[in-house]
Amino acid sequence: MNIHEYQAKGLLAKFGVAVPRGQVAFTASEAEVAAQDLGGSVWVVKAQIHAGGRGKGGGVKVVKSREEVKKTANQMLGMKLVTHQTGPGGKEVKRVYIEEGCDIARELYLSVLLDRATSWVTVMASTEGGMDIEEVAAKTPEKIIKVAIDPAVGLQPFHARKLAFGLGLEGPQIRSAVKFLQGMYKAYTELDASLVEINPLVVTGAGDLVALDAKMNFDNNGLFRQKEVADLRDESEEDAAELEASQHELNYIKLDGSIGCMVNGAGLAMATMDIIKLEGSDPANFLDVGGGASAERVTVAFKIILSDPNVKGILVNIFGGIMRCDTIAEGIVAAAKELDIHVPLVVRLEGTNVDKGKAILDKSGLDIVSADSLGDAAKKVVAALKEAH
Ligand code: ADP
Ligand code: MG
Repeated sequence: MNIHEYQAKGLLAKFGVAVPRGQVAFTASEAEVAAQDLGGSVWVVKAQIHAGGRGKGGGVKVVKSREEVKKTANQMLGMKLVTHQTGPGGKEVKRVYIEEGCDIARELYLSVLLDRATSWVTVMASTEGGMDIEEVAAKTPEKIIKVAIDPAVGLQPFHARKLAFGLGLEGPQIRSAVKFLQGMYKAYTELDASLVEINPLVVTGAGDLVALDAKMNFDNNGLFRQKEVADLRDESEEDAAELEASQHELNYIKLDGSIGCMVNGAGLAMATMDIIKLEGSDPANFLDVGGGASAERVTVAFKIILSDPNVKGILVNIFGGIMRCDTIAEGIVAAAKELDIHVPLVVRLEGTNVDKGKAILDKSGLDIVSADSLGDAAKKVVAALKEAH
């Protein structure tokens, strides 16, 4: 799960990470009041969307009067902000963050994330702050410092000092960096985060360290015990179909192809996507209906698949292990009767009571193509799709 910049800053501040003062606003007048409350003479109006690269897209503006804060907030709220992370359609800005202007001397990069190669939480730092870290990694990998943290001991002051020296910090900044990094690491572990990224971390004109931007991602499997984090969820930032799927405990991820897939088990879902590609087509989604694929969940799954206008054919690939194939077939028939499935539907069942299941599909009178093996199913759905167009 993602949260907004201002929410991440709020959480990090509780762990001792230094952030600029700021206030969120949902309207232009709230923005003006926020500027007044904050005081000072320079403010930054920042669009709050779940995507980075806002600065380049026009979503971060430095202004010098309260009237300008109001005017800028008014322009930003409701606009579709396009960044390299939003896709061409952009994302509508529904809240802005009004922050005190910061006197920037240097922009650095810091993140805490899970390195899947070593299975250790790793801290990454770079002197190239404010830039896309992927670009830094591709062009100047020597400018990235990585420190892997042994989970048995956690982040130690010497780890933090190593990173601070690598960033060219000196004097009292070293001590601030140790506190800063320990706060970030503690926030990461205690809140079940999967990423904490500060880009940029700035050294101010006065020599202080401040997190000017903050991004946090969380492990959804930890949300049940992170109520404070779960409450920060902004559903309007999420893909509508993915959201509906998560409400029904279906694992759904939208993709760009034209064959909708309904599968039980993540491994089988991956294999199904692979075999569709092998047959020369592309999956429209990843969808794992899980072990207990009841008729109701199968119906919701069909609805979600059909809500994608790119879907030109559906492949159902279910292995009846704990669930019996006849129960699944009943679910498919019930769903197909309730919904208008206007695209070819290929079903491959395997496992317990497979013959009973196939008989139910045959007798249903519905236009369902039955398949025997994974390869056969993929061939049939790709052929049906070609025939229909
Ligand atoms: P994004 O990464 O989405 O572009 P950032 O929060 O990193 O958004 O802001 C982009 C740039 O805007 C920063 O690199 C920094 O130069 C500037 N900026 C952001 N917040 C402030 C602030 N409070 N004061 C001064 N400059 C800021
Ligand atoms: Mg940034």
